[in-house]
Amino acid sequence: MNGNGKLTGPTTNVLHVAIVGAGPAGFHAAIALLEQSAQAVEVDLFDRLPTPYGLVRAGVAPDHQKIKSVTRVYERWGNDLRFEFFGNVQLGRDIEVSDLKTFYDQVLYATGNENDRRLGVRGEHLEGCSPASVFVGWYNGHPDYRDAKFNLSSERVAIIGNGNVAVDVARILAKSPAELRSTDIADHALTALLASQVREVVVIGRRGPVQATFTPSELRELLETPGVTAHANPDELILTERDRAYLDGASDKDPAKRSYELLSSIAQSAPPKAPRRIQFRFLWSPVELVGDGAGHLQQLRLERNRLVADKHGHLQAIGTGQVESLDVGAVFVSIGYAGKRIAGVPFDEKHGTIANVDGRVLEPESQAMRPREYCTGWARTGARGLIATQKAGSAEVVARMLADYRAAQPCAEARAGRSAIKAQLEKRQVRAVSFADWRTLDAIEVQRGQPHGALRSKIVDIPEMIDLVELKRRGW
Ligand code: NAP
Repeated sequence: MNGNGKLTGPTTNVLHVAIVGAGPAGFHAAIALLEQSAQAVEVDLFDRLPTPYGLVRAGVAPDHQKIKSVTRVYERWGNDLRFEFFGNVQLGRDIEVSDLKTFYDQVLYATGNENDRRLGVRGEHLEGCSPASVFVGWYNGHPDYRDAKFNLSSERVAIIGNGNVAVDVARILAKSPAELRSTDIADHALTALLASQVREVVVIGRRGPVQATFTPSELRELLETPGVTAHANPDELILTERDRAYLDGASDKDPAKRSYELLSSIAQSAPPKAPRRIQFRFLWSPVELVGDGAGHLQQLRLERNRLVADKHGHLQAIGTGQVESLDVGAVFVSIGYAGKRIAGVPFDEKHGTIANVDGRVLEPESQAMRPREYCTGWARTGARGLIATQKAGSAEVVARMLADYRAAQPCAEARAGRSAIKAQLEKRQVRAVSFADWRTLDAIEVQRGQPHGALRSKIVDIPEMIDLVELKRRGW
């Protein structure tokens, strides 16, 4: 049966696949396997959290419900008997790579990038400096970050980085929190944002406006946020000859050109006097975070950069020695993510990904392929691309998995798949959460949000989720 309830595909020689990580890359891989009809499959999707959807639930901003609505596509597959979700099951804690390789024909890691990149400057440990990912997880109700604390009591905060995460964080900090009430923002975050004293958000890029990686549509949304005005320093928008030549030759649809035009439009207006302001600064790198002597962040020291092409022609930010200090109560470091090493899975330190070629896992030393192990999404490529990118990337990897499986026939060993892993989890007394259990949690969250006019009130405590699932299973 497929997600639409129709019978499909042959029933012999079932390919048992374990996917680790129930974010967009994992779900799109599962769907690609379930949608094809050339090979009978059984797909089990594991996640360390009791809830599915990864960064769609815990990363995409609460005021971006259109992007989040992709979960409707995912949940359709929850009724397909060839598919099962095993939430609250952590690789390395509840199951091992060796279990998955014993029970399944193929293992696909879709574990994303759970580590943050660090600036590596003095004072980064001070209270008030936080990776943007922690803030994003906190406002999205990720259980790991429910107790995170941010200093929102000062007038000015800074964000380091010029990507879409930086824009999301700037928008959530600057927007009137009343506008977030009707979303699925975590209750604790809404309360804290309602009390926030932040009035100025400084977004700092180490290179120029043409090198920024935020997309023009995200930038435009930020600039058009009601109650917020934005400004950029005209002298920081002055282009290098190289950038000028690039923009002159670029089409009107070119993202860098569109962003540059938007930034130029806010550089022409007078510095903003609105209640909440965004200030874009380009060509500045943090060199030190300075504390107040009691461990709290007080100041950010920045060094002015100039752009110099390296031997490959990439423009690099090089410090000029000119330094400026900015009084700030908080700094959000939004300079990208890196993968987390999984015990027993080869890791590529340089790229912060699982070692792979085209999604096939490799031994980094010998470059030999690890049979039957694959990776997809950010675990494969690093943190880049949108959800549509994950869909295409996972479809590509799945095509390779199916080709490899066919090539290994007819001598491939038969694997037990789901029945074996269920028995193993039971033996280890792991309280796995099924897709039906998730539907229970989903319904409770939606119901709890209703009295406040919110889309849902997220449950942020894992033991509470497990208890609610148990109660429902017992019919209470
Ligand atoms: P990103 O686009 O890679 O941006 C990282 C930023 O950090 C870049 O501006 C980079 O500058 C800067 N940076 C790196 N190292 C630095 C350092 N040592 N000092 C100062 N700046 C440094 O990453 P992201 O914003 O984390 O986003 C990750 C992915 O998620 C992207 O594909 C993004 O589009 C996607 N995303 C999409 C949305 C959306 O569609 N609404 C929302 C959030 C995220 P350099 O260029 O100089 O290295």
